[in-house]
Amino acid sequence: MTFLELVDKIFFKEIAKAMKLTFKHMFVREVTLQYPHQKLVLPDAHRGALCLLKYEDGAERCVGCDLCEAACPSHCIKVVSSEVQDGQVLRRIATAFDIDITKCVFCGFCVEACPVNALGMTKLFEYSTDNKRSLIFDKPKLYEIGEKHYSDAKAYLVAHNQEKADETAREYRYKFPAYVNGAEVKNEAKQEPANEPAPK
Ligand code: SF4
Ligand code: SF4
Repeated sequence: MTFLELVDKIFFKEIAKAMKLTFKHMFVREVTLQYPHQKLVLPDAHRGALCLLKYEDGAERCVGCDLCEAACPSHCIKVVSSEVQDGQVLRRIATAFDIDITKCVFCGFCVEACPVNALGMTKLFEYSTDNKRSLIFDKPKLYEIGEKHYSDAKAYLVAHNQEKADETAREYRYKFPAYVNGAEVKNEAKQEPANEPAPK
């Protein structure tokens, strides 16, 4: 042992260094939250539990198109759809809609793929359970979350530029072809085939 090491031992230099560090942190702002008594304020773009949304008049937004199911990289969405006669209109609806939330990676692709903004993500993350089967969110459960967390889901869509805060929800991002909106479809003038061989 060198002389300096002996002096350090006699005057407890390591303990003094530790005490100095402890006292220094007594005057630094805390970053640790005492969860669950304190909770983090999550941003609107947060990807929490998925939900299904309805329009203001209570009609379901989902038209059972299956695009969310096709977009999901985890294959955890199952949509069963059918067509129903609604007066003069034949409507397509989702008769069953299940999301296995245990497989979900919260990528948000399904929300992005939905042409009518029927899916949203909420700030809900506290749904731990000892029953794994309860983590398959069926249609009633997804609508229940949608009703309870409507403002969060709407804020998510706005934060991801999928829906404007001031517009009515029926103004879709998806632009329907002109003939769907009843506009007249003009016949384009016939074009010559691009790769036609030149006359000899
Ligand atoms: S957030 Fe991603 S992984 Fe989860 S259901 Fe949607 S597409 Fe699938
Ligand atoms: S949630 Fe959207 S993408 Fe999925 S089936 Fe319904 S309308 Fe289609």
